[in-house]
Amino acid sequence: MRSVVLKYVRRTPRVIVAEGFVRSESDPRRWYNVFVEIDRRTCTVLHARCTCDDFYYRKRLCKHIYALYREVTKYGCAP
Ligand SMILES: [Zn+2]
Repeated sequence: MRSVVLKYVRRTPRVIVAEGFVRSESDPRRWYNVFVEIDRRTCTVLHARCTCDDFYYRKRLCKHIYALYREVTKYGCAP
């Protein structure tokens, strides 16, 4: 079952910017809207957002952000 659906991925020499939907593990009918911006030199997250409660209340990177991150960096970050 597919759990990440990309809306777009933009790659510049400096960053990867992506947005997509990531499926909830506890409720497979529910999808979260996730955004991530990744530094291509260090492969680290610069900015991220997710519509799940975990991110909303704790303001820290949640598993949905990591799922999108893994999807767009599976071939590496380097330009
Ligand atoms: Zn989340």
